Amino acid sequence: MVLRRDDWHDLARKVDWTPRYVDERELFPPEISGHPWLPHEAWQDWNEVYRTTYREYVANQRDKDAAVLGVRAALSKPRLFDELDPAWVQLVKFHNGAIALVEYAGAVAELRMARFGRDSAWRTMATLGALDEIRHTQIPLLIGHDLLAYDGNFDWTHKAFHTNEWVILAARHLFDDMFLAADAIDLAIQLNFVFETGFSNLQFMAMAAMADRAHHHLFEKTLASIQTDESRHAQIGHPVLRTLLENGSRERAQYLVDKMWWRSWRLFLALTGTGMEYLTPLEARTRSFKEFMTEWVIEQFVKNLEEFDLERPWFWDLFVEELDFAHHSFQLGLYAYRTTLWFDVTLPDAAERAWLNGKYPTWNETYGPFWKDLERRWEAGGESSTLSYGLPGLCNLCQLPTLFVRPGRNTACTLERDGRRYLFCSEPCRWIFQQESPKFAAHKSVVDRIVAGEAPGKLTELHKWMGLEAPVETGKDVRRGLDPWRLDPIPRA
Ligand code: MN
Ligand code: MN
Repeated sequence: MVLRRDDWHDLARKVDWTPRYVDERELFPPEISGHPWLPHEAWQDWNEVYRTTYREYVANQRDKDAAVLGVRAALSKPRLFDELDPAWVQLVKFHNGAIALVEYAGAVAELRMARFGRDSAWRTMATLGALDEIRHTQIPLLIGHDLLAYDGNFDWTHKAFHTNEWVILAARHLFDDMFLAADAIDLAIQLNFVFETGFSNLQFMAMAAMADRAHHHLFEKTLASIQTDESRHAQIGHPVLRTLLENGSRERAQYLVDKMWWRSWRLFLALTGTGMEYLTPLEARTRSFKEFMTEWVIEQFVKNLEEFDLERPWFWDLFVEELDFAHHSFQLGLYAYRTTLWFDVTLPDAAERAWLNGKYPTWNETYGPFWKDLERRWEAGGESSTLSYGLPGLCNLCQLPTLFVRPGRNTACTLERDGRRYLFCSEPCRWIFQQESPKFAAHKSVVDRIVAGEAPGKLTELHKWMGLEAPVETGKDVRRGLDPWRLDPIPRA
């Protein structure tokens, strides 16, 4: 008799036992297993919708890796890279630096749940999740290494998270909070439920659709391949959230969801919003960032909230308002401080501005004058007069410059605590800080460190402190200021 999968699988995924030599609380300490601490009976119905056996996992992953490597082998001709849009290449460099080693940190998070998750089915899923995240690290490291032959800054795929570069410090602050410094329950809500089911579709599936139209099929393939893993292990979040709600922790669950929604939004507008609308060639833009957010992220998230009878975050109106402004304001900041980035940025040309105004009807009125002013500066004083030299105000929670939402409406706010004055980009960031101030209060932003003399104030020394060797590594205008670059499409290599 052949044993079918369904005959044995339940037995293999539910292997919890009753500890006799130690107390259950010692085996799963609340400090790392999480709160509320409930006896195992409360967790024993933990259930994942898409079940996978180890045998199926290995077979599937092997096929997926073979498919990615097949495309890599077929598309390794230098000509194919040379034909990519130069701004698109910068998007890939931005993505690789900001994401590759986060995936590796994600493996640590999954391993924490593989040990301290409260039910064996959860621990099994997380074990496969850890293997997923290792794969998600290895693929961009491999592809990024291939690209070193064309552009030395692709070493930031590996290097970025070993530096003090400010975008990376902001990303590290977020991901430490989301999962590295979180217990198994909090990280299942924050990483699996909010970040992975809520946002990662945007970075991986929406971006893959754009990569296809930008003729970067290897990037498309790797993104889509990674996302198939994400959607499997993301399902860890739902049953954890359900157990919390069934056991009197509704308020805590709502807090974790609200907080991580806001923090993820900050990251995605900075990374994906600017990448999609300032580094992607026009013919590859299928939708605007706002349209992607609305269709791929908000709809799904609202559905998830309804499923659990949770409220929309209290800052929902501000979030909706920011959809029209925040990433456009942030792009101005990236441009002005571009020498502190490891990738190049663009000043939108005439066709791009027309596209932006078509998607965001107040764009010209709000942002047009800023870009025109930058053009005049290029003409009058050359590149150096288009850079900002003053210190920006950095938010003491998200670590990003406090330039949201739009010129004319400043959402920045402050807080006094134990004799220190803190600055925030917005009320939600201040609110998160206040909920967990012991965790956040001692941290210093890059600007705090400069003011305290712990980081150099001189720009050239600051580059070095951030890991950027000027001028080869520091970010530039993609068009290098060539006339008549302002109105022409970006010249291809
Ligand atoms: Mn991943
Ligand atoms: Mn993941």
